[in-house]
Amino acid sequence: MLFANDYNDNRIHIDETQSNQTYYCPYCGAPMITKKGNVCQHHFAHSASYHCSDTWEQTRAYDMSIWHNEWQSRFPKANQEIKLSLGDTRHRADVLIDSTVVEFQHSIMPVKSFDDRNNFYFNLGYKVVWLFDLSDIYCDGNLSYCKENGRLCFKWNNPKKAFNSYDVKSGCIDLFFQLSEDTSEDKIVRVLDVSEKGFEQFYASNFISKDNFLEYVGLRNGQCAPPSRDDVEKNQEYTEFCQKYDVVLNKQQERAVQAIEGSNLLLAVPGSGKTTALISRLGHMVFNKGINPSNILAITFNRKASDEMKERFAKKFGWLVGNQIRFSTINTLCYSIYRRYCQNEHIAEKRLVEGKERRKILVDILSKYSDEYPSENEILDFEQALDYIKNMMLSDTDLIEWNKSYCNIREMYYDYQKVLEDSRQMDFDDQMVLLLKYLTMNRKY
Ligand SMILES: [Zn+2]
Repeated sequence: MLFANDYNDNRIHIDETQSNQTYYCPYCGAPMITKKGNVCQHHFAHSASYHCSDTWEQTRAYDMSIWHNEWQSRFPKANQEIKLSLGDTRHRADVLIDSTVVEFQHSIMPVKSFDDRNNFYFNLGYKVVWLFDLSDIYCDGNLSYCKENGRLCFKWNNPKKAFNSYDVKSGCIDLFFQLSEDTSEDKIVRVLDVSEKGFEQFYASNFISKDNFLEYVGLRNGQCAPPSRDDVEKNQEYTEFCQKYDVVLNKQQERAVQAIEGSNLLLAVPGSGKTTALISRLGHMVFNKGINPSNILAITFNRKASDEMKERFAKKFGWLVGNQIRFSTINTLCYSIYRRYCQNEHIAEKRLVEGKERRKILVDILSKYSDEYPSENEILDFEQALDYIKNMMLSDTDLIEWNKSYCNIREMYYDYQKVLEDSRQMDFDDQMVLLLKYLTMNRKY
């Protein structure tokens, strides 16, 4: 692979890489090893245990020969190694000029590989021009020719079977053979017709030069038409979804929207479009992936953000679906699960303590450990310390350690918990820790 993607999904040629950057496989997204060396060693490689989603890459079916490299690099970089997608299947075409794929092959391929490739391109509506390097076979004398009625008649001992199921006369594939690597000799032929027996005997055009071949596929003075790939670069369903709901995203947002398997972390500054990405992702999950909206839970930290997200979603994708997705704050979610748990297990619910009521408890405790009425800062510090202890689920050993720098924190914490315990109360953090315990014990809630 000579082209990989940088972090922003730009195509980068191996010669343009920087040593401090990471590059990714355009087909499976894995980070690549940048190998720089002589021609055969000069490429992007997967790590040894890779499973690339491009099966041709995985089976090492791509030609990495010097011969191949020389041919491919005669074309503009914009036309080389073009990623083509057919549903979830992605492969790279050696060269794509407009709607014509040009494939260079140093050795004859197995029948199945040859069929696989042609079918993949046919299904996308492309024509394929193949150039095979048969110079070894020609040099060995297993391929010879004579002139016959103004064309060349070839005899091939023990030809490979791969080509037999293709009617070269129909023009679905164009088959070219190169018979010599000597630059002074014009030794490329195009197969025009095949005998009834098969490639034991076939007829070809007169010899043409490398330049003639390049001109045939559309390369003139190093220039050719750009690859025609707009219709296949993105899944049609996704493109239609974006058009229908006016979803306009940058590359990073798009990546987040489409990554719906497993867990994902989207970290960005305020105002950079995280909510836009999240809402579009919800739409993508429902409309493109067929996920039932009532099975989706969208959690935010506060009520305002949750209401806003629901409204923004509904305005884009409609209230019908918007009302089925559950938009909730983390505390509301915790409370509803907690309530269900208590009802099912016949446990009396604890009451949530918040606001002024909680503040009074904090002040009382702080006053117990000081002669003066606590300052606002002291109250805030204490409150944050309690949040920290619970969120980090600190152990008593941790508290003993912390007590050395934060005077009386251990005692104050236990006092606070005792007040809540005695009055059958809990705070938001307690609720979350409690819920974690319940859910770990019993996943049905
Ligand atoms: Zn890959």
